[in-house]
Amino acid sequence: MDAAPEQPIRKGPPTFSVRLAAARKLAPAVRLLAFERVDGGPMVFEPGQWINLVLPLPEGDTRRAYSIASAPDGAGRFEVAVTRVEGGPGSSFLHDLDVGRELVAVGPQGFFTRPPLATHPSLFVGTGTGVTPLRSMIHAALAAGSATPMRLLFGTRTPEDVLFADELAALAARHPNFRAECTLSRAPESWTGRRGYVQEHVKELWQELAAGATEPVHVYVCGLQRMVGAVRDLVKADLGATRREIHSERYD
Ligand SMILES: Cc1cc2nc3c(=O)[nH]c(=O)nc-3n(C[C@H](O)[C@H](O)[C@H](O)COP(=O)(O)OP(=O)(O)OC[C@H]3O[C@@H](n4cnc5c(N)ncnc54)[C@H](O)[C@@H]3O)c2cc1C
Repeated sequence: MDAAPEQPIRKGPPTFSVRLAAARKLAPAVRLLAFERVDGGPMVFEPGQWINLVLPLPEGDTRRAYSIASAPDGAGRFEVAVTRVEGGPGSSFLHDLDVGRELVAVGPQGFFTRPPLATHPSLFVGTGTGVTPLRSMIHAALAAGSATPMRLLFGTRTPEDVLFADELAALAARHPNFRAECTLSRAPESWTGRRGYVQEHVKELWQELAAGATEPVHVYVCGLQRMVGAVRDLVKADLGATRREIHSERYD
């Protein structure tokens, strides 16, 4: 009798323990958490990937996915930014988690990634904590010396909800190929920047990147489903972008 053909062993993403090393409030509803691997090993991931945290909730261990907000740098430390969702057990747990506590992590995971030295002009569109995987991609690209034109369009409600404002301004000042633009859906009168939803500004920034470019513009969009769907539809229908040129991640 013939032996059964060997099945390839499918390995899932690694499971390891992490410790909350530091945390700070980024915005009224957003907490930035810096975790480090307890085993001291490096945190290996691609910019844009996410990780599952196993949360010991009263109703049992519960997994929640979080985009890695920092860029890979060979160290064991990484950041995530968590929006506190009203009545949400996982995000509330992470907002109340004490520094020093340990959790189990599973990952990295996901295909919403961008190689740091990709040469296509890139438009990053994010709302709320959806900006975090884009932050990882942008830092990784600039740290690798990328000179490709990149624009970040970041949408929030009010000026208080804007994340990483000083950091993004400093990056733009050091790197002429990068610019960050913020649009507010509930802008106060004193706001001098863009207003309204990100969808209203995508076309202008995409056309700016496309002008004179030798490669098609790629769009990286992350946030809640409604915004992601609207931006995907817009760049496909109005700007003729192909599926290959649109990369997206949804949080709900
Ligand atoms: C691939 C992936 C990556 C993610 N990365 C992040 C991240 O970096 N930061 C982050 O805060 N969340 C992120 N999320 C969402 C996260 O996994 C949880 O869903 C979120 O923290 C809510 O969990 P909860 O237990 O508090 O509430 P639940 O009871 O599980 O969810 C309540 C509802 O909240 C809504 N919701 C989920 N996420 C958000 C959000 N960010 N803002 C507003 N409403 C939301 C959903 O509609 C959901 O049905 C990600 C989700 C996915 C699938």
